[in-house]
Amino acid sequence: MSKYDYDLFVIGGGSGGVRGARIAAAAGARAAIAEEYRYGGTCVIRGCVPKKLLVYASHFHEDFEDAAGYGWTVGETRFDWAALIANKDREIARLEGVYRQLLSGAGVTAHDGRAVLSDPHTIEMDGKTITAETILVATGGRPFIPDHPGIEHAITSNEAFHLDALPGRIAIAGGGYISVEFAGIFKGLGSNVTQIYRGPRVLRGFDEDVRATVDEEMTKKGVAFRYNCVIDRVDKRADGALDVTLSDGGAVTVDTLMLAIGRRPNTQDIGLDAAGVELTEKGAIKVDGFSRTSRANIYAVGDVTDRINLTPVAIEEAVAFVDTVFKGKPRQMDHANVASAVFSQPPVATVGLTEAQARERGGVLEIYRSSFRPLKHTLSGRDEKTMMKLVVDAGSRRILGAHMVGLDAAEIIQGVAIAVKMGATKEDFDATVGIHPTAAEEFVTMREPLPEPEQQAAE
Ligand code: FAD
Repeated sequence: MSKYDYDLFVIGGGSGGVRGARIAAAAGARAAIAEEYRYGGTCVIRGCVPKKLLVYASHFHEDFEDAAGYGWTVGETRFDWAALIANKDREIARLEGVYRQLLSGAGVTAHDGRAVLSDPHTIEMDGKTITAETILVATGGRPFIPDHPGIEHAITSNEAFHLDALPGRIAIAGGGYISVEFAGIFKGLGSNVTQIYRGPRVLRGFDEDVRATVDEEMTKKGVAFRYNCVIDRVDKRADGALDVTLSDGGAVTVDTLMLAIGRRPNTQDIGLDAAGVELTEKGAIKVDGFSRTSRANIYAVGDVTDRINLTPVAIEEAVAFVDTVFKGKPRQMDHANVASAVFSQPPVATVGLTEAQARERGGVLEIYRSSFRPLKHTLSGRDEKTMMKLVVDAGSRRILGAHMVGLDAAEIIQGVAIAVKMGATKEDFDATVGIHPTAAEEFVTMREPLPEPEQQAAE
């Protein structure tokens, strides 16, 4: 009999933690988990899931307009924010219940409360002391809030899901995926949206053609971008409006200011120092390829390790951890070619290297790009483009990256990602017969590479 209360104690009941606890218990471990807020974590409670529901809600506005070209007359429409939020909350509560059931069904002891390590094998919770042989830290991350005068008047994505009313005017600070997703949500629902970003274009790190297309399409939809500036201060007027002063001397007046300027790993005040767990310079938990920390019996997965901060990655890291520690099959998660999406409007999806990353690696490339009006918008009349791009290694012929902006991008790239992960070549794509008429078929029918940059310069 082990001298510890549990074989595994998981801190954090989000994507990575719940999966880790559940499958470790299914493999025979005596497992417990602690969650200080709501089971399901960021993704289920205030991330991916509610966000995507709001994206669906916000798209109806265009769908009603697009219907006219197809002969439909849509009657008077009206949007009810309170109804949307109530319905969304009901679904999130249902999912939270499902998560709890999954845990209890697997035999995991679920604690409600904040867990803090007091040494490498001991957890303190609500005055109780619990010991475990192995500890998995899966505490996720939280929005970063800068230190400007008046910043307490701003909200983050956490609060955006619970606003009392749809803001008439909203400014969103940031240029990452969360900021553009919320800009699209609020614009689609009828708010006046200004996006403030310190760089020259949103979605830094994505392929430049993706960034340019998103910027162009969001601008067409009426999002006002304020680039190359940051927030200096925020002043609240007597009527509640916020005057947001920008570093370029400009200002915007809004009803709501939302900050989406990055997230930080939840590593403070959870006893990591007492347990001897080292952090990276950025404050994330330092782990090796097996998600093992500097303490041999403590592992960490998900956003708290700041590797690729996505739900399916946290889950796969947790699965690899259980294989390694509880199933006797040591395994590292492969972080290469992880596909991802931005549920902007239009949406983005991508897998593999950007053109810039591929050029940095050296070697000759072939770039294929296609930009077109999707069939749906021939009759709807909507001026919205789809952009698709393949980055090909000219020597090995392998597809290094596939990028798309346009309707159904995420659904399309998921399939393309399998081929890229398997090491498909351009000839494999060419040999694949398209499904007609779709936008996706463009990925297997692009035949002419763009002229290489030196060639373009010479022309
Ligand atoms: P989390 O899911 O954050 O879970 C950590 C949990 O630990 C939390 O519930 C927290 O309350 C709890 N906790 C923290 N400290 C303690 C403690 N000391 N004791 C007890 N409990 C504690 N990812 C995607 O893949 N697709 C998307 O579309 C997507 N959209 C997103 C949209 C938004 C607005 C946000 C914020 C994130 C989004 N993400 C998306 C990212 C995704 O939510 C995270 O990558 C994922 O939730 C990480 O899982 P995790 O297990 O590391 O942490």
